Amino acid sequence: MKPTEKQYFHDSSLLEFSATVVEVKASERGDCVVLDQTAFYPTGGGQPNDTGSLGEARVIDVFEDDANIIYHVVQPVGSIEPGQNVTGLIDRGRRLDHLQQHSGQHILSQAFVQTCGAETRSFHLGSQTSTIDIELQSPSDDLMRGAEDLANAVIFEDRPMRVHLVNDEEAALLPLRKESAVRGKIRVIEIENFDWSPCGGTHAARTGQIGLIAIRSYERIR
Ligand SMILES: [Zn+2]
Repeated sequence: MKPTEKQYFHDSSLLEFSATVVEVKASERGDCVVLDQTAFYPTGGGQPNDTGSLGEARVIDVFEDDANIIYHVVQPVGSIEPGQNVTGLIDRGRRLDHLQQHSGQHILSQAFVQTCGAETRSFHLGSQTSTIDIELQSPSDDLMRGAEDLANAVIFEDRPMRVHLVNDEEAALLPLRKESAVRGKIRVIEIENFDWSPCGGTHAARTGQIGLIAIRSYERIR
């Protein structure tokens, strides 16, 4: 099977699409549908999957395998079969929430680099809270407020966020905040005059879409 064409790679605002069913099969997570292309984001990179519908069926989980094939876990699979054309609909509220949290993380991570020289180690996006692990020896209220203020300034400036698909040589010329985990075609998210990061997630088109960033609490973990 060929890798699934990722429509969300080019357009994170696409919430309705049509695609051809390539395969239907049972898995331990439930009945799965593979499409030739999809706007559904699969779980990965600290960001949970989208939900929505394929035809009459609910899409309750989406995951990607090592061969970059995306599986839509549907309920019930009903009459979906290979060769069929189906319409996919993404749940808007969940997509927007994830897109805001995730885009906000790009900004906050760069804000920590610029205000305290601190790099981001990991990120977890949850339905109630999102957490970010920062390489910072002595966190303090002042440092948190400094990073938060810079992040919110970038949001209020409503800067464009752009997607670039580049190769290894082109990526080497960009001021990337972190190294890419993939080789070959690398997807880079640019926040104008602020941050460049390799990333496969869904993002806002402009920073103003993100809304306010608030650091609600912090703690030392080691
Ligand atoms: Zn991202």
